[in-house]
Amino acid sequence: MAILVIHGGAGGDGPWLGKTPLDPGRIDCMKQVLKVVGRRLESGEIDCLEAVTLAVEMLEDEPLFNAGQGSVIGEDGSITMDASIMRGLDKAAGSVINVTKLRHPIRAANFILQRGWPVMLNSSAADDFGILSGVEQVSQDWLKTELRQGQWNQWKQSKLNPGTTDEDDSVLDHDLEGRVSTEFSDEGMGTVGAVALDSNGNLAAATSTGGMTGKPVGRVGDTPIIGAGTWSDDTIAVSCTGVGEAYIRTCAAHSLATSYHSSGKLTESADKVLDDVAPLGGRGGLIAVTSHGQLTMPFQTRLMYRGYWDNYNIKVGIGPEFEP
Ligand code: ASP
Repeated sequence: MAILVIHGGAGGDGPWLGKTPLDPGRIDCMKQVLKVVGRRLESGEIDCLEAVTLAVEMLEDEPLFNAGQGSVIGEDGSITMDASIMRGLDKAAGSVINVTKLRHPIRAANFILQRGWPVMLNSSAADDFGILSGVEQVSQDWLKTELRQGQWNQWKQSKLNPGTTDEDDSVLDHDLEGRVSTEFSDEGMGTVGAVALDSNGNLAAATSTGGMTGKPVGRVGDTPIIGAGTWSDDTIAVSCTGVGEAYIRTCAAHSLATSYHSSGKLTESADKVLDDVAPLGGRGGLIAVTSHGQLTMPFQTRLMYRGYWDNYNIKVGIGPEFEP
C-alpha cells in the first residue's frame, strides 16, 4: 500500500465560485503528478522521499502554481523561492531559503537532506550549493511569467492607491483575487506540497513556494521552516499552505503531529491546527498522511488545489467537492 497526497495552494474568501479558465490546466497537472509518481511509489521503485521530491518538482514545473517557474514576484520585482523536505524515519531534513536561480528548489533541499549537515542554507549560498549539486540553473526571466508580472503590477498599483494600509504590504495571490478583477487576478494560488507513505511504511513531506506577491526583501515564510510549513516523523507527514506568518507562530505542521500523537485523531487534530492559525490571520490549509494510511486535506479558504493517490485510486479537487 502506498499513498501520495499533493496540494497546489489554498486561497480565496467566501463561497466557491466554480473553476476559472486556468483551472483545467492545474487539474491536469495534479492528475499527471499523481499518476506518474503514484505508480512508481506503489510499485516500490521509489521511496517516499523521492516520491515527494518528484511530485513537487513536477508542480514546480507547472507555471500556474506558485513555485519554481511561475513563482510570484516580491516587492523589489524579483522572484525568491523557499522549499523544505523532511524524512520521517530519521527526521532528516533539508531547506533552502530565498533562492533565485534554481529550476527545482525542492531538489536542492533534498540534496541538503542527503548530505546531512547543515539543515538550512539561504540565498546565494543555497543557490550555489544547489547548482554545484546538479540542480538546473535558470534565469529570473525564465522563472517569471506574464500572469505573475500582471499580478505584481496590480499589487504595485494598489499600493499607490489612497487607503492602502500596512497590511497590504504583501499579499497572497488569493488576496489579489478578492481585490481586483481582471485576467491577472486568476487566483493562481499555488504554493505546492506533497506527503507520502511508501510500501515500507515510511513517511516524507515536502513543500515549495515563491511566497507572497509583494513580499519584502528578505522575508522568510513558513515553507522552508521545519515544523511550521513541513514536518514528518515516523507516524505523520504534513505540508501546509497559507499566510506563512501564522503557520510560523503556531509551529503548525509540528503542532499537528503533537496533537495527533496524543489523541490519535487525525481529522480533529488537523482542524484544530487550522483553528489555531485562523485568529492570527492564517487563512489556508494543509495535507497530511499517517503511517496507518489515513489522510486528510482540510482548508478554511474558498478552495485548495489538492489530490491523492491511494492504492491506484486518484482523486483531485479544488472547491469543496472532488472532481467527478
Ligand atoms: N505559505 C506560503 C508563504 O507564506 C504562501 C502560500 O502558502 O501560499 O510563503
